[in-house]
Amino acid sequence: LGSAHASRHGAQTHPHLFFHPELLQQVEYRRRLEDDLRLAVEQRELKLFFQPIVDLHTGLLAGAEALLRWQHSERGAVSPEVFIPLAERIGLIGEIGRQVLDDACRQVAHWRRDGLEIYVSVNVSASQIPEELPPESILETLNSYGLPSHAIALEITEGVLMSNVSVAQNWIAQLRAAGLRIYLDDFGTGYSSLSYLKRFPMDTVKVDKSFIMDMNDDHTLVDAIITMTGSLGLNVVAEGVEEAAQLDLLRAMGCGYGQGYLFSRPVAAADFVATAKRINTEMGRHTASP
Ligand code: C2E
Ligand code: MG
Ligand code: MG
Ligand code: MG
Repeated sequence: LGSAHASRHGAQTHPHLFFHPELLQQVEYRRRLEDDLRLAVEQRELKLFFQPIVDLHTGLLAGAEALLRWQHSERGAVSPEVFIPLAERIGLIGEIGRQVLDDACRQVAHWRRDGLEIYVSVNVSASQIPEELPPESILETLNSYGLPSHAIALEITEGVLMSNVSVAQNWIAQLRAAGLRIYLDDFGTGYSSLSYLKRFPMDTVKVDKSFIMDMNDDHTLVDAIITMTGSLGLNVVAEGVEEAAQLDLLRAMGCGYGQGYLFSRPVAAADFVATAKRINTEMGRHTASP
């Protein structure tokens, strides 16, 4: 004990081994967050919220994106921007991803039985592909809830495509062959978006919300993306639509789908049907006549 103490004491005089108290606190905070996340996953405390995706031509609800929420008993809501990367680092993303797919399938099956003919899109991290989320197991899960393959879409980012080209191509090809739709998320934020669209056959691109937020100043980029994806035969979802002026511009540009706080924030499953009804009456009424 004496020597351990001595060396620790000695370390403090060595510039490379000096620890700031805040840094130690951060390390401790991170370690506790990891333990809490493990427990939350084990006890199935992570909950899916659902955010409407609206068909801008009809004004009607088309689908919903499943977004994970973690309500921590002491810390309050922890953002997925924090706990998803953490889950990836500590090897929890596989289990989380299986829970998410299972919950999303159960929920959309329930809504479709009640006559709400929508799909749910599920976010997939690069580290889930392919071992943690093989195409066969996705199809099995869909099957177990009696779902058609078009009831689930999978959202991937460029990170998925960059990690291993042939693995990603195979994974996408198998799922598309089975009828699932693949969405390219956060489009425009990466490095080689354009070339990816040629190399990886996809169904839909989701224009990143940063571009939609800039639209009041300059909408040439969004306009170009919509034109280009249209000529490639791809659908477009505009993410982060917050203002009516953005919606008007997007419609004028021929953007197919929109998602954002203007329509609805992500809501708990229990509140989704009421949200869907509101959108289908309100937005449907505001649709420009053809
Ligand atoms: P994402 O897939 O790009 O999801 C869209 C994000 O934009 C969501 O943030 C959503 O709440 C937010 N958003 C939607 N409309 C608006 C708007 O009008 N304005 C603004 N400012 N934001 C809007 P959220 O829920 O915090 O999720 C953040 C990211 O965490 C997601 O980005 C996704 O990358 C990741 N994520 C969430 N759930 C999952 C999951 O189940 N699995 C995986 N692998 N990643 C997930
Ligand atoms: Mg997404
Ligand atoms: Mg996105
Ligand atoms: Mg994102």
